[in-house]
Amino acid sequence: MTVSRPHLPALDSLRGLAALAVCLMHATPLFGLSALAPHAYVAVDFFFVLSGFVLYYRYAHVLLPGAQRPMGAGAFMLRRIARLYPLYVLATLMGFALTTLWLAANGNLGAEAGASVYALISGLLMIPAVLDTSGLHDAQVLFPYVDLGWSIFWEMVMSVVFVFWAKAGLRFLPVVGAVAFLALAAATWSMGSVDGGWQLANFHVGGLRALTGFCLGMMTARVFLARDNAAKTTARPLLAWGALALVAAAAVYVMLGRSFTVLGVELLLLACVFPAVVWMTAVSAPRILSVGPGVVLGGASYSIYLLHGSLLEATSVVLKRIPFLAPSPLIGLIWLAGVLVASWLCWKLFETPARRWVMARFERPKRPALAKAERRKHGNRGLKPQSARNWRRRHGDACRLSEGRVCPCAQKIPQERPVMGMTLFDSPSFSNHEGVHAFYDEKTGLKAIVAVHSTARGPAVGGTRMWNYATAAEALEDVLRLSKGMSYKNAVADLEMGGGKSVIIGDSRTQKSPELFHAFGRYLNGLGGHYYAAEDVGTSVEDIAEARKVTEYVLGLKDGPEASGDPSPVTAEGVFRSNLVVARRLFKQDDMTGLTVAIQGVGHVGAYLAEKLHKAGAKLIITDVNQANLEAVAARTGAEIVAPDAIYDVAADIYAPCALGATLNPQTLDRLKVKAVCGAANNQLATADIGDELFKRGILYSPDYVINGGGIINVASEMNARQTGGAYDASWVEGKLSRLMETFEEILERSVSENKPTHLIADAIAEARIKAAADKKAEAQKV
Ligand code: NAD
Repeated sequence: MTVSRPHLPALDSLRGLAALAVCLMHATPLFGLSALAPHAYVAVDFFFVLSGFVLYYRYAHVLLPGAQRPMGAGAFMLRRIARLYPLYVLATLMGFALTTLWLAANGNLGAEAGASVYALISGLLMIPAVLDTSGLHDAQVLFPYVDLGWSIFWEMVMSVVFVFWAKAGLRFLPVVGAVAFLALAAATWSMGSVDGGWQLANFHVGGLRALTGFCLGMMTARVFLARDNAAKTTARPLLAWGALALVAAAAVYVMLGRSFTVLGVELLLLACVFPAVVWMTAVSAPRILSVGPGVVLGGASYSIYLLHGSLLEATSVVLKRIPFLAPSPLIGLIWLAGVLVASWLCWKLFETPARRWVMARFERPKRPALAKAERRKHGNRGLKPQSARNWRRRHGDACRLSEGRVCPCAQKIPQERPVMGMTLFDSPSFSNHEGVHAFYDEKTGLKAIVAVHSTARGPAVGGTRMWNYATAAEALEDVLRLSKGMSYKNAVADLEMGGGKSVIIGDSRTQKSPELFHAFGRYLNGLGGHYYAAEDVGTSVEDIAEARKVTEYVLGLKDGPEASGDPSPVTAEGVFRSNLVVARRLFKQDDMTGLTVAIQGVGHVGAYLAEKLHKAGAKLIITDVNQANLEAVAARTGAEIVAPDAIYDVAADIYAPCALGATLNPQTLDRLKVKAVCGAANNQLATADIGDELFKRGILYSPDYVINGGGIINVASEMNARQTGGAYDASWVEGKLSRLMETFEEILERSVSENKPTHLIADAIAEARIKAAADKKAEAQKV
């Protein structure tokens, strides 16, 4: 799964404003004016800067070498094609239809038939027209049916350049940007303006405008992502108004006409103003750009940009035939309103569905890791490296597990080869799970998978994650991995609970409903108490409370005597005590005085942890992508704030990851200057060998599922209360937490005496406890 960065809607709104400026420039005659936004062609350069920024911001972290979850060039280009091509095709066909009508009306259809067909084919293929098509248009242009097609062509070219350049590390970006800028200045010197790119004679100007804008945009994004969050906080209002002022300055220039040294001002806009506007808007957008009309304008921006040409032509033809209607500002405004409505409808009814369709139709489902294992085992006879279509034919669109049916691969492979093993069972993540259950509820759209790894120590307990997995195979992989982790965590915490986990496939921001959780609860009833669900990423206490209305097999409730409530304070307490254990062992002190802890993520757990560490005398360095969390925690603890990516480089004694998994990976390892890692996040080691490497480097790793067990201990108290009819028992929780800390000390002790990494010792303890319970259970069943 690719981790994407948050959307910045204000940038879309800027794109909408720029598209409006272009629209006004072209519609000048309709307004009955001689000059209306005559310089708005520079908006195209603004688009290029914006595109460079957005591509870098959204994709660099998955394309650059060493990305944790790299995205392939094909997957990236599919997204770009899905974004750019469908609307471009629609605009081309509209232009073709209008031109054909116009030629027919003038009796020129026969004479221009060849040019017309040529322009259509080259246009649909997005190839600039080099043969004579001047009869179709006022002049010979590269894209006769879509005036602005040239800029989309360069967008596409730059997308290809970007993906391969990013894969190669985007080396020499500032140098290329500077050279492109100078080349653009030289190429446009004799023209006196950057206004070129749509004709063969100035084809190269289009390329240089695109390259310069993209490079500047990418450099801006690089600065934006690297800069310190603290500056963002203090400069916020200033930046917001500065951005507006610069937009206003650009607008004045666009509206004024050529009274300046045109090229000079344009180059200044391109090199300084546009990147600054994009950067400031990304840092701190004025609210108006991110709500209501701003969002609509942003969404419709591409349609405004590409369709207004055809709409303008159609309107002009109609106006010529109605004698009493002459161009005027009123007519122009009515037309503009029509363009906005049409573009909004196009965005909703065509652009967005078409993009989704392209993605659904062509996106290559990720092969589950098990396909690789199959190949290794059986050679290429049965499962050759497959094309997307072959893969789909073999496995179904998303393995269909999400729809509650058996995965087709599970049915097919044994028929092809009478050998033991099926895709699911051969997955390394399957790891002897006791049960995997897929549920589908047509009425609510619920698609859920429950994995029960082990019930040796008691009913399986683990959270319910709601996540927009790209495929069911990805969801399956995740749930298997997580449920095994829960077996280990519950065993190490010495709870009479097994390990399980569930995932709901969907967007937790838009696809939740009470009915969805009722359906989920009903399915849990079908498991008869083998598995208990609780809140997790993407689900809340409220969602669990909804499920509770139909099932007793959920834990982590807010109300009632048995309710355990928010587990985060107990999790944070466990992590805090673990920090103290580390301080004692490594730094020979009983409190945190003088020690610096770098906390990544100050959400529920991180914020509690920060306060406890602050009270114990630690100096804190914190980061978060959520500005509000960051500011609030810094205000309470006096912590120093750093940018998200800078947290790995800070000079600290302890690194406490409390946000994401897999932050200990080959890329971060060399950057860490700390002596210990001790945080709450789950699955901190990208792979087990990173744990070995930390051990070799003398960095003490506190196994995540050991030290963050406070939360599950808290939940276990609710389970006890449920089973005994009693109430939540804080002293029982405290007893278990103390015992957990003893286990943690034992792990550190054994790591030294056995000269083994801590994560291996923790695994060994968990596995021994699970095995002992399983043996006991088997023995009891014999009797
Ligand atoms: P949370 O969502 O409340 O907090 C996570 C914080 O990390 C958020 O403030 C978020 O903005 C921030 N964040 C996200 N991406 C970031 C990035 N790239 N850089 C910096 N910050 C980023 O979650 P939580 O409940 O506090 O849990 C934190 C971690 O601890 C998670 O990994 C969770 O699985 C684990 N955990 C939590 C509990 C618990 O009781 N809540 C128990 C065990 C484990």
